[in-house]
Amino acid sequence: MWSYHSSIKKGGIKVKIAFVCAEVYPFIKTGGLADVAYALPKALVKLGHEVVVMLPSYKQIPRGMLNDAYWVSLVEVYERTFNLYCVELERVKYYLINEPLFSDRESIYDNVDSDYQFAMFCEVTLQLLKSINFQPRIIHANDWHTGLIPFFMNQHYYRDPFYYDTKTIYTIHNLKFQGQFSSRAVRELGYSFEADRINYMQLGIEYAHKVTTVSETYAREILTDYYGENLNHILQKRSHDLYGIINGIDLDLFNPSTDQSLIQCYDINSIELKGENKLALQRRFRMEEKVNIPLIGMVTRLDSQKGLDLLMCVLEDILYHNVVQFFLLGSGEAKYETFFQSLRDRYPHKFGIYLGYDAKLANLIYGASDLFLMPSLYEPCGLSQLIALHYGAIPIVRETGGLNDTVQSYNETTKEGNGFSFTHYNAHDMMYTIGRALDYYHNRKNDWKIIIENGMSGDNSWEKSAKSYADLYDSV
Ligand code: ADP
Repeated sequence: MWSYHSSIKKGGIKVKIAFVCAEVYPFIKTGGLADVAYALPKALVKLGHEVVVMLPSYKQIPRGMLNDAYWVSLVEVYERTFNLYCVELERVKYYLINEPLFSDRESIYDNVDSDYQFAMFCEVTLQLLKSINFQPRIIHANDWHTGLIPFFMNQHYYRDPFYYDTKTIYTIHNLKFQGQFSSRAVRELGYSFEADRINYMQLGIEYAHKVTTVSETYAREILTDYYGENLNHILQKRSHDLYGIINGIDLDLFNPSTDQSLIQCYDINSIELKGENKLALQRRFRMEEKVNIPLIGMVTRLDSQKGLDLLMCVLEDILYHNVVQFFLLGSGEAKYETFFQSLRDRYPHKFGIYLGYDAKLANLIYGASDLFLMPSLYEPCGLSQLIALHYGAIPIVRETGGLNDTVQSYNETTKEGNGFSFTHYNAHDMMYTIGRALDYYHNRKNDWKIIIENGMSGDNSWEKSAKSYADLYDSV
């Protein structure tokens, strides 16, 4: 029977790490991947490691971010000239690879030649590290965009004395997106690859020295047919090198006692002040203005991954039968947008929505909500529930992936637990659990306070996770 690793040996050597990622906050962000690519290198540097971050220089990066960028090197690959610029932020060096292949595109993903773009990104990264003489002990690649790095290392670069001591770590942030293409681009770069089709993520998993994903539960889940996205058999073969390490949140960015997006800041000793944020949200979206109605918040991509089909089954029931308000911030699939809009039109005092992306509003929702709902179908790690915990909004989650590892259902006897959860992907189980949470809100004030305090006092900082990565680097 296969298994995966849940613990890593402790160590403490300073390591040179090249972290390679398609998106990195604050330069460019489409999702949680960018947050990790910002927070983890920063936390590793704090632990004493030397980290450089490699990313493409997209047109979408705000010019202001590059004001202090300086040119460092170039490489020529197949008649293209890739210039490398460096920006230093908080003791991390960010290297941006500039070429029209990245800087001339309207979109950062889903281009007709994405296969070629990201194959080039991987190839050029390996050449550029050499040209700037940054000899990494670890190259840490992330998601399908960089899955070719372990493959290229294995096929070619391991023979280069420069890379004799280099090991690769590959992190899966979301197994669903795999980069499946014709193998044309890789062959054009001079690598031999027999099959016509190629899967960049699969190659990352097969050829990296170690593979990680972003929670222990997800590391277990992806070995199964249900969650494995057709790569479970490949993952099973690597299960002895597969680790689950949970993400953290950046407490400088998400702190209710200093957050400028809030109408009223607060901390664990002044939770009652959250009510001011609730009133502000209700006023702004013309919901009934009342502080003692429980408000359930959601901030999410509108994608089936996030469990929205469960809401389509029972949300109207919940609104109709309960003293409760609901607020949703999100954007994505049209069928969900239409559903939520029509529900808002029928329950304008109870249900507020904002369809779009708005980071400031997101924080106000975390600050205003009593409960935060994440009934995900699958959730590799999830950041929203960590933010919610930190903002004293009690999470209601389905027990999957990182939600399972970070939210413990409250136990009234032991007074342990920081939220509410349900096991099966089932709308009535979700509705029952929401009912349970509302009962606590209305009738068990002492327990309610304990749950919030348990959540707000938990440690979801990056420091702990960065130590786990550092131990893994040591172990290879
Ligand atoms: P995923 O990466 O799968 O989208 P996570 O929970 O890991 O989900 O991270 C989502 C992050 O994006 C959270 O910080 C959440 O607050 C933020 N977010 C999601 N949707 C929106 C939105 N419409 N507006 C603002 N922030 C959003």
